[in-house]
Amino acid sequence: MDFYCANHDFKKANIVLLGVPYDGTSSYRPGSRFAPNAIREASYGIESYSPYQKKDLRDLKICDLGDMPLSFGDKNLNLDLIESFSKKIIYGRKKPVFLGGEHLISYPLIRVFKEKYKELVVLHIDAHSDLIDSYRGEQLSHATVMRRVAEIVGFDNLYQLGIRSLNREDLLLPYRDENMCLFNLDKAKEFIQKIGNKPVYLSLDLDVLDPSIFPGTGTPEPGGVTYKELLECLFLFETLNIVGADIVELSPHYDQSGVSSITAASIVRELLLLI
Ligand code: MN
Ligand code: MN
Repeated sequence: MDFYCANHDFKKANIVLLGVPYDGTSSYRPGSRFAPNAIREASYGIESYSPYQKKDLRDLKICDLGDMPLSFGDKNLNLDLIESFSKKIIYGRKKPVFLGGEHLISYPLIRVFKEKYKELVVLHIDAHSDLIDSYRGEQLSHATVMRRVAEIVGFDNLYQLGIRSLNREDLLLPYRDENMCLFNLDKAKEFIQKIGNKPVYLSLDLDVLDPSIFPGTGTPEPGGVTYKELLECLFLFETLNIVGADIVELSPHYDQSGVSSITAASIVRELLLLI
């Protein structure tokens, strides 16, 4: 099943959707490997038209390539597979949007983007800083992913928004004073100013949303934002040169109502219309 309206031929498409069903390091509640298909299924319950952006998915040429065929269990093998599958897409002329999976999937993806775009900036929206150096001995985990990403792109090129769960040691890391904040649209505007026209990779961890409206996630964190607040923030990014994006950490089975998957599908729609 394709994401709604993402049924264009690969050759003719200019946006490519690709599922990355990996959740091997989820530290609390795994299950995000089921997210890409849950998002696709939920996309048939929403309209293709965005009344916010006044744009329609039907006017875009999107190709949904389905999920990467990953193995279950072997982390290093899976990270290598993600890197090699994504390389062909990232080096092509189409704009890729990746559906996680857990947040560690951003690490191999950003590694490839950085090879292609020397000046790459990462814009990270999340409840969690994901900045610890190692989580219970693991250097590669969804809890350490932005630390590894900062080592790739430089701390000065990592902008973090919505962060309400972190270690105090994170604050001692370079540029965190200026480049990391709670959810704050004024700061988002400041980030946009600083980023200018550099190529941007947008990494959206859906647990930035409040668990009351988005319970379907592995590490829910109270005090999050509403759907409309998140959209308002995303729309600010319209002027940015977004070269790729991921949407991670939906774990559909923790939400029996299914509203988390519908919310995720709706955010995917807005993102596809935005970039
Ligand atoms: Mn995260
Ligand atoms: Mn998170």
